[in-house]
Amino acid sequence: MKQDLIDGLMAICGRDSVKVDVPMKEYTSMKVGGNADVLVEPDSIEKIRECVSYLGSANVPFMVMGNGSNLIFSDEGYRGVIIRLGNKISKIEVEGEIMVAEAGALLSACANKAAEHSLTGLEFASGIPGTLGGAACMNAGAYDGEMKQVIVETLNLDKNGNFITLKGDEHEFSYRKSKIQNEGLICLKAVMKLQKGDKDAIRAKMADLNSRRREKQPLDMPSAGSVFKRPPGHFAGKLIDDCGLRGYSIGGAQVSGKHCGFIVNTGHATARDIIQLIKHIQDTVYDKTGVMLETEVKIIGGA
Ligand SMILES: Cc1cc2nc3c(=O)[nH]c(=O)nc-3n(C[C@H](O)[C@H](O)[C@H](O)COP(=O)(O)OP(=O)(O)OC[C@H]3O[C@@H](n4cnc5c(N)ncnc54)[C@H](O)[C@@H]3O)c2cc1C
Repeated sequence: MKQDLIDGLMAICGRDSVKVDVPMKEYTSMKVGGNADVLVEPDSIEKIRECVSYLGSANVPFMVMGNGSNLIFSDEGYRGVIIRLGNKISKIEVEGEIMVAEAGALLSACANKAAEHSLTGLEFASGIPGTLGGAACMNAGAYDGEMKQVIVETLNLDKNGNFITLKGDEHEFSYRKSKIQNEGLICLKAVMKLQKGDKDAIRAKMADLNSRRREKQPLDMPSAGSVFKRPPGHFAGKLIDDCGLRGYSIGGAQVSGKHCGFIVNTGHATARDIIQLIKHIQDTVYDKTGVMLETEVKIIGGA
């Protein structure tokens, strides 16, 4: 990438917030993928807006990411700029039953803050390892909860740098989908409506859900969570297991023996291994059951 573009981003965000030739395996939970040309971590909404306008006017490809827990970058990496919204933009405020948090706040931090204030509604999210922005985009959910139930308003940016406020149904939340995702918006901030509850009960529920997660999921190995969406009327993990794929490997990518809906990186997987394993699972499950598994994880670039 041209130095004057990098200098321009540094002028907006500060020298320390712009990194060049960045290994995406260090920024994703799957721990695979090549380098991105540039990764920038703005620390304010205004700087995000300035970056988007600047990159748009310079015609440079860019994408937003949060904690990288639902992303697989190809081994070729990403030609363009990654705008990462993480701990530099992660303020959480609570007033009454309303929580307002910036997009880079971790869901676990939001859930803990809610518990501190005796607010119930976010327990389901405490073990999902993403940011609020990523979770709003994905309408992340678990254990009968989903972001749709708590988010009442978001502040977003479109690709031209215009602020867009979405309220309630305007988010068009559905299973792992949202208007934010469909229209490629950047979520900057979300307002969540929670309810007064009992602090001990809230903490106990979070502890219970997290121990169920530890019991069922291979949390000790790199993964991107459930690779596939739940097909109507089925469970992806059960279909994969029934097709005899438990433990099946390609290179360093393996169908988890603990939870067949997860692919784990056994140590030296490449993105190519992971993507080939995804295709193999899809083909095998389709041939044997007629069900086409759709990926929940987002794959950036080809195999
Ligand atoms: C062990 C494990 C368990 C998991 N369990 C669950 C679970 O129970 N339920 C569940 O739903 N998911 C689960 N996931 C998947 C993942 O944590 C969620 O999808 C999460 O919401 C992704 O957030 P993120 O910040 O990591 O997003 P990223 O992985 O960084 O990005 C995911 C997508 O969101 C977009 N995005 C990120 N930030 C923003 C933003 N600010 N504005 C707009 N778009 C944005 C990205 O462009 C990308 O398309 C799990 C993952 C792992 C590794």
